[in-house]
Amino acid sequence: MQTGPSPAELAQPDWTGPSLSPSRAGDFKTCPLLFRFRTIDRIPEQPTADQTRGTLVHAVLERLYDLPAAERTPAAAVDLVAPSWERLLAENPDLTSIFETPTGDDGGTPAEVLVEVQPGERPVAGVDDFLASAKALLEGYFTLEDPQRLEPAEREQLISTVVDDRLRLRGFVDRLDVSPDGQIRVVDYKTGGAPREAFEAKALFQLKFYALVLWRTRGVVPRVLRLIYLKDVEVCDYSPDVEELQRFERTVLALAKAIEAATAARDFRPQPSKLCGWCSHKALCPAFGGTPPPYPEVVPAQRAAAPVLVEADQNLA
Ligand code: SF4
Repeated sequence: MQTGPSPAELAQPDWTGPSLSPSRAGDFKTCPLLFRFRTIDRIPEQPTADQTRGTLVHAVLERLYDLPAAERTPAAAVDLVAPSWERLLAENPDLTSIFETPTGDDGGTPAEVLVEVQPGERPVAGVDDFLASAKALLEGYFTLEDPQRLEPAEREQLISTVVDDRLRLRGFVDRLDVSPDGQIRVVDYKTGGAPREAFEAKALFQLKFYALVLWRTRGVVPRVLRLIYLKDVEVCDYSPDVEELQRFERTVLALAKAIEAATAARDFRPQPSKLCGWCSHKALCPAFGGTPPPYPEVVPAQRAAAPVLVEADQNLA
């Protein structure tokens, strides 16, 4: 039974056709206009404290599993927080914007206010508070899994495949565990402060997407898709089967066609939902009285070569 990256997985560097990641597919399903803002207009989004905390916690868990099993303790995880934060800041100094202070008429206040607080997100009073909240999530992690007893087969792994000879699916999985008999468990860490029910369908879509790619490239239907909700300190396991992944593949192909049709017609409509509360682009959204920018006439070269092109996933909270 093959469980490592297959030739199909490795032999796609020259693919110039359309590609789709679970994040961008999820955007289109959530709201076509959100997809346009992110993928076609590429309007920058200010990182929120939740997203930044998610990136930090993912980085710590990644480094925790670099340690020998016996050293993967809660204290070791906590000790990794500060250096991991320094490393993230060195890569992206803009992350400090989550601590910036709005300038008020009174000349401003100390840098203790979070600029953009999403619904349900707790304000961050400063870097100490922020790092403490990341440590709390990591301590909760140890009540859900014992990393000393786990030896992940792959971490932060890019996986991809081409389905129906016309669409490349690709994304990064947080962790793959492979049992001695070749059974695969796909693990995704969720750190966001948003109510779980608001994003559960999106999270499961993401994991089924990975399961489809793994099944098509490695010939194995993952035994378990595991969502680890660090804020809720809860694990959600799901087991897909072949028929479900076949249906899911048809769904993804239909979604890609819908994206192509919307792109050809330049028609991306807003689809308001409770997720609008987490959207960075409300001010430009007609559903909230805004006006989108003109549709870009110049398409970046990368996208011209891949009409439905979507970036690889990132570690989103
Ligand atoms: S505010 Fe809501 S409807 Fe508007 S673009 Fe964002 S997600 Fe879509």
